[in-house]
Amino acid sequence: MDKVSLFKCDNYDESTVESAVKQAIDALGGMECFVKPGQTVVLKANMVMKCEPEKCATTHPSVVAAVGKLALSAGASQVMLADSAGGPFNEAYMGAIYKTSGFTEIAEKYGFTLNHNFDSFAVDMPNARVGKHFLICDCLQSADVIINISKLKTHSFTGYTNAVKNMFGAIPGLSKVEMHGQFRTLDVFGDFIYDILDYFGKKLTLNVTDAVMCMEGEGPTNGTPRKVGAVLASVNPASVDAVALKLMNIDPITMPFISKGVERGYLDKDLKLEVVGDSVENFVVPDYEYITPNNFKPFANLPQWLQGPVNKMMTQRPTINKKKCKGCKKCFEHCPVKAISMVETRGSDVKKAEIDYDKCIRCFCCQELCPFGVVKVKSGIVYKLMHRSGQKRIKNKSK
Ligand code: SF4
Ligand code: SF4
Repeated sequence: MDKVSLFKCDNYDESTVESAVKQAIDALGGMECFVKPGQTVVLKANMVMKCEPEKCATTHPSVVAAVGKLALSAGASQVMLADSAGGPFNEAYMGAIYKTSGFTEIAEKYGFTLNHNFDSFAVDMPNARVGKHFLICDCLQSADVIINISKLKTHSFTGYTNAVKNMFGAIPGLSKVEMHGQFRTLDVFGDFIYDILDYFGKKLTLNVTDAVMCMEGEGPTNGTPRKVGAVLASVNPASVDAVALKLMNIDPITMPFISKGVERGYLDKDLKLEVVGDSVENFVVPDYEYITPNNFKPFANLPQWLQGPVNKMMTQRPTINKKKCKGCKKCFEHCPVKAISMVETRGSDVKKAEIDYDKCIRCFCCQELCPFGVVKVKSGIVYKLMHRSGQKRIKNKSK
């Protein structure tokens, strides 16, 4: 049975975080079990976009620093901080994230390296379920050890994001757009994520979760910070996710990445896990606001003229507030199926983004990447009625 450690961490003060992270890793045997002297270690944090740590979209640098310091103490020859964000995988884009999100500061302070290798490595896995050929970041390929340091958040497409989904950041920059276009449904996309995990195998030695300040509502970048006050760790990313979801008051098995984890052999079908440290009950946030995963499947058997209106009524979809759209084109450039166009708008000097719902596959990349938070998730009328209780887009208010 997999072990998941869970420890209280009330805030991001250096000493508080260091103590919680050390307890969480010690409970699994100590950093010496995961990093051997002389090994090069990559800390794969969540660096989804350029934003301050307080926004809670990225892994907090103090959690990354605490893990990195333990890796150095265990004898790592190099500790490198790396991720590939939603945009281009290059120095300009990632450098801005390192600086704004606090990673440059901790690298300088503690002697870590920031990744400046933006090359890709071509993976061939003919026996993989769906990901037979794909690119990964060369820095992850070259490392001896990867430690995955995720942020617990809601996610408009997948319902939640944590350790499992964090490894999608192994795919370099715009290649992610291509993968979203190729693996369109949540079921197939889930298989692809587990193919990535299969690829890294035992090189991914440890998963640590920053669940101190999380994100609720329209995550992964446009939600609201919410305190959970914990740090978790496990050797198995699916196990750490299954426990972390309980803190958000979500039944783990209702999440497609967890049921996929069972199907792919990462989790026992009864989700039997040994939690060490503090008790789960101490951290459950009863009114955590989360989003139903978007298992969008177009009604392809209907006549063409009916598909648009039926899809609109029966699904969740992204909507753009044209008045607030700044015309920056980020959504336009990253839409995997070219469903967004930039159009002239009366009263505005700039072209604004517009979505063609007949093409849209509801991946919500536009919502994730809009730097101005003007892409919102809207539920169709029939969808709302069908999800009035239980699996609806829940605002679990118990107050
Ligand atoms: S419009 Fe947005 S949600 Fe739809 S396919 Fe494009 S990026 Fe994905
Ligand atoms: S990313 Fe946001 S602001 Fe930029 S064009 Fe798209 S909707 Fe408009």
